[in-house]
Parts: sequence; C-alpha cells; structure tokens
Amino acid sequence: MKLTKTKRDVLRRKFGGCCAYCGNELPARGWHAERCEADFALLPGECRGLMPVCTECRTSKGNASAEAFRVLLSQQVYRAQRHSVNFRTAMRFGLVRETAAPVEFWFEKYAAVTASAQRISTESSQYQDSAA
Ligand SMILES: [Zn+2]
Repeated sequence: MKLTKTKRDVLRRKFGGCCAYCGNELPARGWHAERCEADFALLPGECRGLMPVCTECRTSKGNASAEAFRVLLSQQVYRAQRHSVNFRTAMRFGLVRETAAPVEFWFEKYAAVTASAQRISTESSQYQDSAA
C-alpha cells in the first residue's frame, strides 16, 4: 500500500507510535500499513481504515482476521509447552508462568491508556490551578 510520507507518519503515530496489535514501538522504517476489518474501521483518529503493524505481527497474522489472530495467539503457550524443551524447563523453574489472561490488542488498550493519561493530566492541572 502506497502512502505519502506525511500520511505514513500520521499512521505510525496512530497508537502512540506502537504496533496496533502487540504495542511494541514501531521503528521509523520497516513496519506495515494494514487495512482494518469492518469492525475496527471506525477506530478514532486519522487514517481511518488503516492500522500500523510491526513486521513480526504482520508475519504471524498473515491474512487472518484479527479474531483469528487472537485465537492463534491464545494457543502460543500451549504450543511452546508442547514443542519447546527450553520453555518447559523455564516453566519448571518458575521463570515463566502461564496465565489465563485474554489476548488484548494494543489498539483495544490504547483508548483506555490515553483516556487515563488525559484524566491524570486534567486532574493535575486542576490541582495546580486551585493551588495557585
Ligand atoms: Zn506487533
């Protein structure tokens, strides 16, 4: 997908400069602009209909839907236990622990994170106003 440099910069910052799925910081180059599925096309912000995605998530997800990607990710611990002696050893020694945490994508958490940051900023400026 061809985007202008400006649109690409705007898209890269859509979720705080992070991959829409995993939340890892995106490099300046070497990430992908991916079309949103209909359910996510109305995500707030500029570049509606597009999501910035890191190379690793793009490779893992392929052409799967976001929900199919979520299911795939939810099976990662099981697969690691089944196929990796290193992972089983790390579990046996308590170095890693399985949780029942649901797979949440960064774009789902991002709105809550930014709303929380705005609330703290607003409360802090109100405190400063009342203290002055
Ligand atoms: Zn990612």
